Amino acid sequence: MTAIVEPTAPEGFEPTYCPSWCDKDHLQDFAEGATVEQAREHLIGGPGAVLPELRNIVGEQILRPGGGVWNLTTTQDTALDKATVGIATINLEVHDVFENRFQHNGVTLHLTVGDALELIAGLTHQVNKLLQA
Ligand SMILES: [Zn+2]
Repeated sequence: MTAIVEPTAPEGFEPTYCPSWCDKDHLQDFAEGATVEQAREHLIGGPGAVLPELRNIVGEQILRPGGGVWNLTTTQDTALDKATVGIATINLEVHDVFENRFQHNGVTLHLTVGDALELIAGLTHQVNKLLQA
């Protein structure tokens, strides 16, 4: 069994690094009282969508229930020891149809830039196949 130990900030740690793509002003947030954990995550929001219900136009049969959701964000943690910078990941969050607002099944994939480029190429390939049909 592997235990995941969350690092704690060393005494005197202050976030000083913020990549240009970061949407947050966490350096300012930290100066205004945010915790180190809140201030060390760089974040940019991205696109997302709720999938609509799809019905057979003739029979009105539901082919896909609506409500599935996908969202993209990009995050990167500032390393607490300042010796390393965490890997920036593009996070693909996918949820199935919400039964209610408290119960849903979902998964988040943390993709590197290389992983994301492979996903883009794969999606483009599959879309092009469908468009040629
Ligand atoms: Zn930032």
